[in-house]
Amino acid sequence: MIDRVNELTDKKIAVAGAGITGLTAAYILQEAGADVTLFERKDHPGGSIRTVNQGGWLSEYGPNTLQLKSSRIEDFIQRLGLGDQVTEADAASSKRFVVRDGRLVEIPAGLREAVQTPLFSTYGKLRIAGEPFIRKGKNRNESLSSFVKRRLGSEFLDYAVDPFVAGIYAGEPAELSVRIAFPKLYNLEQKYGSLITGAIRKKFDNNEEKYRTRLISFEKGLQQLPKKIAGFLKNIHYNADVSRIQKGNNGIELIANGVRYDHFDIVLANIPLYRIHEQLINGGGELQKKINIASYPPLSVILTGYKREQVEHPLDGFGFLVPSVENRKILGALFNSSLFPNRAPSGHVLLTTFVGGSRQPEIGSKDTEELKELVSQEHQELLGVSGEPQFLDHVYWPNSIPQYTTEYDQVLDAIDNIEKQNPGVHLIGNFRGGISLPDCIGNGLNIIEILTD
Ligand SMILES: Cc1cc2nc3c(=O)[nH]c(=O)nc-3n(C[C@H](O)[C@H](O)[C@H](O)COP(=O)(O)OP(=O)(O)OC[C@H]3O[C@@H](n4cnc5c(N)ncnc54)[C@H](O)[C@@H]3O)c2cc1C
Repeated sequence: MIDRVNELTDKKIAVAGAGITGLTAAYILQEAGADVTLFERKDHPGGSIRTVNQGGWLSEYGPNTLQLKSSRIEDFIQRLGLGDQVTEADAASSKRFVVRDGRLVEIPAGLREAVQTPLFSTYGKLRIAGEPFIRKGKNRNESLSSFVKRRLGSEFLDYAVDPFVAGIYAGEPAELSVRIAFPKLYNLEQKYGSLITGAIRKKFDNNEEKYRTRLISFEKGLQQLPKKIAGFLKNIHYNADVSRIQKGNNGIELIANGVRYDHFDIVLANIPLYRIHEQLINGGGELQKKINIASYPPLSVILTGYKREQVEHPLDGFGFLVPSVENRKILGALFNSSLFPNRAPSGHVLLTTFVGGSRQPEIGSKDTEELKELVSQEHQELLGVSGEPQFLDHVYWPNSIPQYTTEYDQVLDAIDNIEKQNPGVHLIGNFRGGISLPDCIGNGLNIIEILTD
């Protein structure tokens, strides 16, 4: 590892885009002794991570939680000096709900609860229990829905996987590739022949790091993380829209706001795929042709605040998700003020509701007034909310999250081709190696290995 770090010392590196992957990578490379300059088109760091505090309503416009699954990201947070700002989600957040027949049903937390849950019928439960006896699949490009239906049955697909995928990807199980979007599931089947057997065997595998998975944020919200990382970086240009990355006479050059910056040995582009085209980088045109495969569906995030007594439901959990088969107009909602302290003024609650995604793109792009009506109606029916919200905010993501579809290998090939055509340029971000924050941060932390491979 020391040799690899030495390879990068004194290299001149540009990072285009201050998303969490680019920021983490920039931090690691600067720490390794490289001369790093970061260019971000907006006036703040974080990309999709955006926290806004409006009179005590602490709103997350993008991600709400960061799942710590290993000590690596926790150590990084400590190294940044953010350890004392971490807020762990309330223990009650382990309770999650799914809508079944128009009411919230708790997702079973253990085997006993799973046997008793009204979420699945007796047939559905027996079908799940039979999973170890199902033969291994052979289709490398199988969709998640086909995979789950084959192994666990259609009830599990409808009431467990479909809502879960809406919550993570704002996506549709029939469109996503199980191998690329859920590699752990795919590999369990490949290695152990069964998800249930594989999960049990892995639990007793001594080589696995024993780490208590935790769901966290920070006292002032998730954007504290990108802001803190950016605070360590020596050279950042905000409001710097990178319009061209190319080989020049003096190393790789980059044009931002019409100004040419050159002599770079390496350029990392942490730019979403829908912004990459031939004018930006050679090979970008080929990638552009594939963008519809990796559609980034429109998504609306509606933040609503109520007085506690306006809501009948105890809001004793993480939130709820809505399966497609329930035919409702929202994907789900988070109970923010139950999750973390100081998210709403005293005596009030804050909810975040997600609308649209691949399931209902036409609803995701409706205007604020229509969405307010629609969300209020759903809150009234599902949570027993009465009266008008005390606080309302609407964030529209015209391009929310890349979908790792069954044809996504073509997108990954187009990305590889850009890198081959432009030696020294690397594309990093949530379009490669996972969309979640831990995946993006993990990929940023791995940047030395990626660059010296
Ligand atoms: C609504 C929503 C909710 C989510 N919830 C969660 C969650 O709860 N937990 C979780 O783990 N994940 C969640 N995610 C996913 C996660 O937030 C993202 O996958 C991740 O933040 C993406 O990071 P990234 O490094 O790819 O960069 P991005 O966030 O995509 O940032 C890219 C940056 O590049 C900049 N840029 C673009 N073009 C240029 C250019 N030409 N020149 C210079 N700069 C440019 C942009 O301004 C931006 O700052 C959510 C995502 C969304 C949208």
